[in-house]
Amino acid sequence: MNFLPEVFSNNSAMVNGELVIGGCKATSLAKEFGTPLFVIDENDFKSRINGWKNALNSNFGSSAGEVYYASKSFVSVEVAKWIAEAGIGIDVCTGGELAVALAANFPANRIEVHGNNKSEAEIAKAISVGVAKIVIDSMQEIERVDRLAKAAGKVQNVLLRITPGVEAHTHEAISTAHEDVKFGFSIASGAAWKAIIATQSASNLALEGLHCHIGSQIFENEGFILATQKLLELSAKFRDEFKSELSELDLGGGYGIAYLAGDKTFDPNQVMAALAELVKSECNRHNLKVPKISIEPGRAIAGPTTTTLYEVGTTKDVELEGGKTRRYIAVDGGMSDNIRPGLYGAKYSALLANRTSTSTGINSRLVGKHCETGDIIIREIDLPSDVAPGDILAIPATGAYGRSMASNYNHMLKPAVISVANGSARTILRRESEADLLALDVVEAPRTIK
Ligand SMILES: *Cc1c(COP(=O)(O)O)cnc(C)c1O
Repeated sequence: MNFLPEVFSNNSAMVNGELVIGGCKATSLAKEFGTPLFVIDENDFKSRINGWKNALNSNFGSSAGEVYYASKSFVSVEVAKWIAEAGIGIDVCTGGELAVALAANFPANRIEVHGNNKSEAEIAKAISVGVAKIVIDSMQEIERVDRLAKAAGKVQNVLLRITPGVEAHTHEAISTAHEDVKFGFSIASGAAWKAIIATQSASNLALEGLHCHIGSQIFENEGFILATQKLLELSAKFRDEFKSELSELDLGGGYGIAYLAGDKTFDPNQVMAALAELVKSECNRHNLKVPKISIEPGRAIAGPTTTTLYEVGTTKDVELEGGKTRRYIAVDGGMSDNIRPGLYGAKYSALLANRTSTSTGINSRLVGKHCETGDIIIREIDLPSDVAPGDILAIPATGAYGRSMASNYNHMLKPAVISVANGSARTILRRESEADLLALDVVEAPRTIK
């Protein structure tokens, strides 16, 4: 239960026994904004954006493409503005995410559009605002994007999402590049090559290059290496066939971050240096010019910057077999603001944020307030035996796939997201109200539908 600097945002510290983030006391934030609360360390967020941008630029030089922030990890209009101001791109995969980017006046020529089942309306909107590129994911989509670009009188820059057949070492639910997945065109089955041919013969598509994203929360390099090798091999085949070279290679995101004691967040510079070396040697081997290299980190930017604050409501001791006991500590949020433990067994750490305790640790389970046994935030953790109602618990590294995956289960109100920096705090996404929830309920006269 000690403060672990490796899992908290850069500008977090324990000061006089209290957690302080961006110069603001956790207890004061909880009092001012309520709990559960997502607290973003704004300066940390901005420095992580720059960390990835500088790492790509310095290691790839003139062949540096774009860093596209994966907005699905967490986005709001304010965050999209931070991304835009830093001069990097953004990756969106629904009309909703695109709407947020556009509301932030995000330059369309730095927006990349993903998704394995984009609607015609989403594609048409993307084309009409002039997005940098659309990443095509299926044969039907080649026809759709081509037809809609033609209707708009445009030639759309596209990438093809390729499945290189890589088993990334992460949970199945967030592993995306082995053969048996819904994403992309597989190389092994010949689908990738067919997609390339079809795209080349589509009059209103300009094939810029290939894309792959092998999964999320990855720590081993082999997956990235194998994927890069396979995609450059395919790029060489393209050159042999079409006598011209693809100009871009987008290697996706997936860089792992620290959640538990002793974990290490990927260092952008180390990752990009290794990638640059690999790309250069593979291009050499195939006698290819080094294409523009783009990447799409989401978790690695947003994840470490945010801490969730909860207030403890109840504690309960439960007898286990063999005479042991487990203490259930229930907080005022749960699976509606953090579904990752329930969805794929993700693990988190916790910190008593409002005081220091000298009590011994006791075998505890941190749970939420939902009507589900599986509403567990931390399955197994030693928490001080004197943790009691009214205490504030901090869960670090909740910036990615926390608020963005939040639900209204049990009609819970999605928590506020606040940004802290240099002793000031401000709301960037307000807490939902009961009025927000009730606004969706309508009483409509029946209409005849035939
Ligand atoms: C989810 C996703 C990302 C971001 O993944 P992280 O693990 O958050 O870095 C990037 N690209 C694509 C296509 C994705 O689906």
